[in-house]
Amino acid sequence: MSALDGRVALVTGSSRGIGAAIARGLRQAGATVVLNGLDPDRLEAARSALADEFGGGVLAAAFDVTDEESVDRAIAGIEAETGGIDVLVNNAGVQHRVLLVDLALADWDRVVRTDLTSAFLVGRSVARGMIARGSGKIVNICSVQTDLARPTIGAYTAAKGGLRNLTRAMTAEWAASNVQINGVAPGYIHTEMTQALVDDPRFNDWILGRTPTHRWGRVEDIVGPVVFFASPASDFVNGQVLFVDGGMTVVV
Ligand code: NDP
Repeated sequence: MSALDGRVALVTGSSRGIGAAIARGLRQAGATVVLNGLDPDRLEAARSALADEFGGGVLAAAFDVTDEESVDRAIAGIEAETGGIDVLVNNAGVQHRVLLVDLALADWDRVVRTDLTSAFLVGRSVARGMIARGSGKIVNICSVQTDLARPTIGAYTAAKGGLRNLTRAMTAEWAASNVQINGVAPGYIHTEMTQALVDDPRFNDWILGRTPTHRWGRVEDIVGPVVFFASPASDFVNGQVLFVDGGMTVVV
């Protein structure tokens, strides 16, 4: 028996990057996984590759996690098809790099809606079923910016800081229904979102110097902690955020 046999896990923003690695890890641990993204072609390519690797057990639902109506419709469809979502990973996110004094309200709104409001919308919709069934796991993908700020990413920092307190707010209301909500905060991970930073020699040198392990994170580094929070091994762990950052947030 694997830790997640018989469970159904939805991972938002899992057509690529960290979300795709998390979905693969949850499938490997035995769960049926539901992938999500915006671009239907990219999503279908990710779904069929993962299904081929594991001989099935992979579904896909293309919807915008920032759109209330689309979220509620998609969650109802997934619940009808699978019988219920046991594990939700709120992973979809975007970045926008510009100084606060130059940041347009529309860009602030887009980042906060995608990185914070989406976790409320998808979390609320999925939690209604979890509470009714009396069990569930929600993992919110935070960031080192949950704790630390840096110039040019103010909206992202505000959203990811808010996501930690949303994790606590969900815990305050849903823990008694046997729903565990925790966060995983990745450090600097090499994905499409960070490619521009990897390609910038000065930033790359700064990351290598600033991280005690002297390397970028890999998407695979995030998988074990998420599987832990999705499994019965964490049944009495509530409202925590685990930093998976090569030690970046424990040194100056
Ligand atoms: P990527 O940019 O590689 O992937 C983002 C994913 O989110 C894609 O699957 C994308 O779908 C999906 N997505 C974006 N907007 C929406 C939306 N409105 N509705 C549905 N899906 C959406 O990101 P990463 O893998 O780098 O990051 C994943 C998460 O990890 C984010 O929350 C990010 O903040 C966090 N994180 C990343 C770090 C890093 O160093 N990379 C560090 C710390 C945290 P599509 O393919 O269709 O566009």
